[in-house]
Amino acid sequence: MKERVLITGAAGFLGSHLCDRFIKEGYAVIAMDNLITGDMRNIEHLMPLPHFEFYHHDVSKYIHIPGELKYIMHFASPASPIDYLKIPIQTLKVSSLGTHNVLGLARAKKARVLVASTSEVYGDPNVHPQPEEYWGNVNTVGPRGCYDEAKRFMEAITMAYNNVHGVETRIVRIFNTYGPKMRLNDGRALPAFIGQALRGEDITVFGDGSQTRSFCYVDDLVEGIYRLLKSDYHMPVNVGNPVEITIKDFAEEVIKLTGTTQKIIYKELPKDDPKQRRPDITKAKEILGWEPKVSRAEGLKITFDYFKSLPQEEIFKDHKEFANKN
Ligand code: UDP
Repeated sequence: MKERVLITGAAGFLGSHLCDRFIKEGYAVIAMDNLITGDMRNIEHLMPLPHFEFYHHDVSKYIHIPGELKYIMHFASPASPIDYLKIPIQTLKVSSLGTHNVLGLARAKKARVLVASTSEVYGDPNVHPQPEEYWGNVNTVGPRGCYDEAKRFMEAITMAYNNVHGVETRIVRIFNTYGPKMRLNDGRALPAFIGQALRGEDITVFGDGSQTRSFCYVDDLVEGIYRLLKSDYHMPVNVGNPVEITIKDFAEEVIKLTGTTQKIIYKELPKDDPKQRRPDITKAKEILGWEPKVSRAEGLKITFDYFKSLPQEEIFKDHKEFANKN
């Protein structure tokens, strides 16, 4: 009998890559998603497999899974600023009520659970780069508060279940990640820039573009998460790429890569947009023996090829949906 893993948010960007990885590692995968922001197309290639099941379910509601579970990966949550601005209550619920349900299930099944936390717990950081010991600088009532505070609660309740009930828990703090299967219309910098290039539109940089991010290719991230799950370390671990770039330079890289003849136009910086972000990955290196391998040049090329291969109508349809959201 194969060992079984439950993946919440399985039809999302990271969840779907995790499904691929666990199938490849020989596990039976139970994929769960309510499809608010997830997309079945990300996992439809797995649906015919005998060891892959899909549950259309909202993890904020009671979760019933018959049989044994070895691992639970809690990756359900809107994860881009335009999503959580649009659905802040669901965003709060999935990481609070949803995490509570997931931890209760882990306790009942004696499963190890890994929860997807985020660099957003550091808010607009005053310490740079960000080590796990930094407590953060979060505006609880700002536009990102619903996401940041829900994820902070997620970490707190996860630690409580570890301490009180002895549930085996792992907490990964994920920094900006990119790759195939991101949504073209999720409003994040990379899909936004590539989508604009593919449609022949100007590239929208928010603010003066001097804010920084550090972008990790998805395969590297999944490797780090997989190692953390298998480790015996229960405190939070940053997983991300420490190579930092300004958003303006990033936009210029995308312009070069795509060969677009369009220019950068500057738009207002969203409220509470962090000025700088870069993970300190000392812990991941020491505890997991992990560091990213894929350069931005390689990763961006693969990601661009993916977006380019999407049907034309999708590239333009997504744009319309995105435009309506703003
Ligand atoms: N950004 C931008 N233009 C866009 C979308 C995003 O300049 O069309 C900026 C955004 O303001 C932020 C950075 O790119 O400073 C990364 O944004 P993203 O939404 O990808 O992630 P996050 O802000 O959560 O790190």
